Amino acid sequence: MKKSFILSALCVSLYYPAQTFVQAYQNRINQITQSNINNYLTEFAYLGVKTTGSANNNNTFTWLKNKYLTFGYTEAQISENVFTYNTTITKNLILTKTGTKYPNTFVIVCGHYDTIVGPGVNDNGSGTSVILEMARILKDVPTEYSIKFINFTGEEQGLRGSQNYVNTVVNTTNPKMDIKVIFNIDQVGGVAGEVNNTITCERDTNNNPATNNAASNAVTQELMTCVSLYSQLQTNLSYAYGSDYMPFQANGEVITGFYEFNESTKPHSSSDTYVNMDPVFVYNVTKAALGAVQHFATAEINGLSINDCPPEKMLQSLQIYPNPVSDLINIEMLNTNLKDFSFSITDLSGKLLIRSENSKKIDVSKLSSGIYFATMTVEDQKLTKKIVISK
Ligand SMILES: [Zn+2]
Repeated sequence: MKKSFILSALCVSLYYPAQTFVQAYQNRINQITQSNINNYLTEFAYLGVKTTGSANNNNTFTWLKNKYLTFGYTEAQISENVFTYNTTITKNLILTKTGTKYPNTFVIVCGHYDTIVGPGVNDNGSGTSVILEMARILKDVPTEYSIKFINFTGEEQGLRGSQNYVNTVVNTTNPKMDIKVIFNIDQVGGVAGEVNNTITCERDTNNNPATNNAASNAVTQELMTCVSLYSQLQTNLSYAYGSDYMPFQANGEVITGFYEFNESTKPHSSSDTYVNMDPVFVYNVTKAALGAVQHFATAEINGLSINDCPPEKMLQSLQIYPNPVSDLINIEMLNTNLKDFSFSITDLSGKLLIRSENSKKIDVSKLSSGIYFATMTVEDQKLTKKIVISK
């Protein structure tokens, strides 16, 4: 098992790292189901008002833990971070998936599960459902970076759970916990009866400190690209505030987040219920989020080792760039050690203009501007893409 993991990680590390569509990520996104989302939301609703430290709050912690165990995670992968709020004990839940290449560097995916006044099906049963569905699908998916899925409590009392986690875990780990990015998902339920087709992506604009702002902007741009690659949603760029990423922000970490664009008026009231939100929006947000988490954590491309990536997988990973091109085409595929392939360019009538064997740089400077077909052949498999030559 360990051996194949190492080989698999190698397979990924050789993959061209640009942020382009990855079919293997999409295949996992296709495992998200609307009925799972609906079930998480209705079960969350049924757990009632989950005020920090209450019996319902504790029951929700247990419900979450049982969900992860049902998905196949082990007790050893689940930890709790306990603190006292108003003389009652309450617990953050942390699910850790260890990375294959950077086990000590973490992508944190978080959202609070506590609610106030109402059942909080949007705020934040929605984010909780997104996290559950992602954890279910990624259970057996190796990632280069470690992932921590964290369900925080105490958010509604002033980010108590996330602040406690930063104070008692992030900063007391020796050396200090190395965090690649914090991706917070809070209130992504949308509004019933409205067209919920846009997700707000949040970057750090806070100046205390400002040193982490540029990195947050960069990962938020990546997040927005993931939304467009893996969902039908449109993006709205905004700023981070008032949720569990802020204690991390203040600690100098790199943060990003999702928040609904059509903003519901129901949160923090007894009307924050299933019927007042849009479960289809949550489903669509989950697609975008799962694309982003796979991107941030560098999920494995196809579960195969470098020596047994079959030709069709090779072709799925084919990148031809730049496109449009003026003089030199670069070719990248999953397995950079691949020796036996051919590449040809034809015009629209099918006339062969260029043919090369086993070369990853193709000189097209002699072709005039126009549209052509590029065909890659690996063993008995072929893939043709359109290329544009522009002088
Ligand atoms: Zn919230």
